Amino acid sequence: MTKYIFITGGVVSSLGKGIVAASLGKLLRSRGYTVANQKFDPYINVDPGTMSPFQHGEVFVTDDGAETDLDLGHYERFTDTSLGHINNVTSGSVYQTVIEKERRGEYLGATVQTIPHITNEIKARLQKAAKQFKPDFLIAEVGGTVGDIEGLPFIEAIRQFRVEEGYDKTLSIHVTLLPFLPTSGELKTKPSQHSVNTLRSQGIQPEILVCRTQKAIPKGEKNKLALFCSVAPECVIECRDMSTIYEVPLALEKQNFANVVLKKLNMPLKKANLDDWIHLVDKIKNPKHTLKVALAGKYTKLSDAYISVVESLKHAGYANDAKVEIKWVVSDECTNLKKAKEVLKDVDALVVPGGFGVRGIEGKLNAIRYARENNLPFLGLCLGLQCTVIEYARNVVGLEGANSTEFDEGTNYPVVDLMAEQKSVKGYGATMRLGEYKCELKAGTKVRNAYGSKIISERHRHRYEVNNEYKKLLEEKGLVISGTSPDGFLAEIVEIPANDWHVACQFHPEFKSRPEKPHPLFNGLIKAALRRKS
Ligand code: GLN
Repeated sequence: MTKYIFITGGVVSSLGKGIVAASLGKLLRSRGYTVANQKFDPYINVDPGTMSPFQHGEVFVTDDGAETDLDLGHYERFTDTSLGHINNVTSGSVYQTVIEKERRGEYLGATVQTIPHITNEIKARLQKAAKQFKPDFLIAEVGGTVGDIEGLPFIEAIRQFRVEEGYDKTLSIHVTLLPFLPTSGELKTKPSQHSVNTLRSQGIQPEILVCRTQKAIPKGEKNKLALFCSVAPECVIECRDMSTIYEVPLALEKQNFANVVLKKLNMPLKKANLDDWIHLVDKIKNPKHTLKVALAGKYTKLSDAYISVVESLKHAGYANDAKVEIKWVVSDECTNLKKAKEVLKDVDALVVPGGFGVRGIEGKLNAIRYARENNLPFLGLCLGLQCTVIEYARNVVGLEGANSTEFDEGTNYPVVDLMAEQKSVKGYGATMRLGEYKCELKAGTKVRNAYGSKIISERHRHRYEVNNEYKKLLEEKGLVISGTSPDGFLAEIVEIPANDWHVACQFHPEFKSRPEKPHPLFNGLIKAALRRKS
């Protein structure tokens, strides 16, 4: 018997609804309840896989190969769960299902409409997630802001769902912003009142308000919000800006957030066990070391574009009592080896993350070369592995002009090439090699040692791969292919034994890192960076 919690946002977007949804998941799990999170995105793209990271931030990939909103990353990291296709629903995917059904004649001649057909499909997705995960609580967050035209079908579906399932089984939480006016020194509640009014006019009365604020909310303001938004005073929850997002669950717990939720849903109140999380936040706030890690990518103007990579670096830092500062490097700037040196001389490690397209590639190659020649700890992710192999082929093996056919179709040495099964692929959405695949690690290698096991499983998102025709040549010249697909065919990890940590992988380890369980490859990088620094 799943209970449903709906989270909407008001006043402005980018309020941190995702962190609130993830934090609530954490607080309920810490009481022994099971939880699944779901994200509703009102845009028309079928999934964010085809969107530019500048538009949308990172594309988060799940075990089952869904290309999803980055909020799923927060959900997984906070609740230590593995989500999938059903956990991210876009308007595009809902319309796609409905239109396909219409084309198959399944509506038996009916006029297909937003209500009931689109709203029914949205409700079906809620039920499908509940059926798949059988959680005590399904926490469904609606992207965007209440009042957005494109969000209306989701709000209407939630309104209907609450009527049909019952108000004891469903709950509405509205996350808003209280702007602070420095001139009068006041927190303003009016925008939140308007936002709740809008939600009410669409048939939903929220039971709980979570208010983002820079300052503590005075009691008078809390009571005012409660009175004008028709919620109990204990249901006005303050959510202050924190120095780390991982502190948010603890701040919410202090205000009894999860217990208020449980009471509203007639569920037994249980004591939270947050000891480990408190210990984690204590470690985050009291680091013994500081490390500077260069992240050389092309979407550096929007830090959300690499959010899982940044979080993974921080997680590995926490485990090693180190605060990780990111030095954002626009890879174009490393136009030659000298420039790469200038950019990298003050950092303790280098990460080259995933990406697409030729822009910035030569700069990445220079940065990787600098790291290799100077024993600067380095981790390459997906495109980062492909660049590692190109750099090695050019500068160690001596294959001048070696490249990936993604960047130079006519290269004489295509050391990275389109995967065989990709050659016939035409469309762009959900057509890469996606999701979890097993990988076998070679005995005696650095990565085998770091993982501590022979078979691992990691998430992928790529079309190109190391060209097997060059494997032997690369290996003869000292590059170790330390991880392959279990059939030995695909190169999944490469490393250089002579360097302390020069490791690159074809998959995206950043999607499986957790604040309390850093990923072995990031942990290996951070440990090497600390060795170098001391
Ligand atoms: N562009 C490369 C490929 O498609 C790398 C992809 C990535 O880094 N996610 O294989």
